Amino acid sequence: MTRRGLLGGLLAAGVWGSLTGRGAAAQPVKDMKGIAEMQKNWRALLAGDFKAPLPTEELKLADAEWRKRLAPLAYEVLRKEGTERAGTSPLNGEKREGVFVCAGCDLPVFSSAMKYESGTGWPSFFTTIPGAFGTKTDYKLFLPRTEYHCQRCGGHHGHVFEDGPPPTGQRWCNNGAALRFVPKVGKA
Ligand SMILES: [Zn+2]
Repeated sequence: MTRRGLLGGLLAAGVWGSLTGRGAAAQPVKDMKGIAEMQKNWRALLAGDFKAPLPTEELKLADAEWRKRLAPLAYEVLRKEGTERAGTSPLNGEKREGVFVCAGCDLPVFSSAMKYESGTGWPSFFTTIPGAFGTKTDYKLFLPRTEYHCQRCGGHHGHVFEDGPPPTGQRWCNNGAALRFVPKVGKA
């Protein structure tokens, strides 16, 4: 049996939730209606005291200001389209309920319900908070890839691929350094 075949079998058996480590409480997302609901209700996972900015509240800063504000790796990823080494982000193992925000500008971009274990070594998500990202085609490697960036500050986050889990089939492969996790309860 191929890896994909095995994965398909496991998905059909409905054990995807336990594989992704989202725990027994996580509801498996069966169809696009479930995804639409997840996108609509992401605020349910937002910490009560977190003031979330809107994608339309554009944040533009000079390069020198970004360099001052951001940690070196976050600067390299967000402002220079760098890529962190696979397996290095502490957010790979983040399994608590909460919201992932842009490390540059605090814009909420993913909820914890949208995360899954892709096995790539980068935090991966099968959908996003609506309006969080803009995309462009990136020709840096031999094959064109779809780059995505924060709608509010323009910071680069990662690339989106079409080998994610159903029902979206999307894999938003995000640099952990471009994200900050805001747990629904307790401290980051
Ligand atoms: Zn941002």
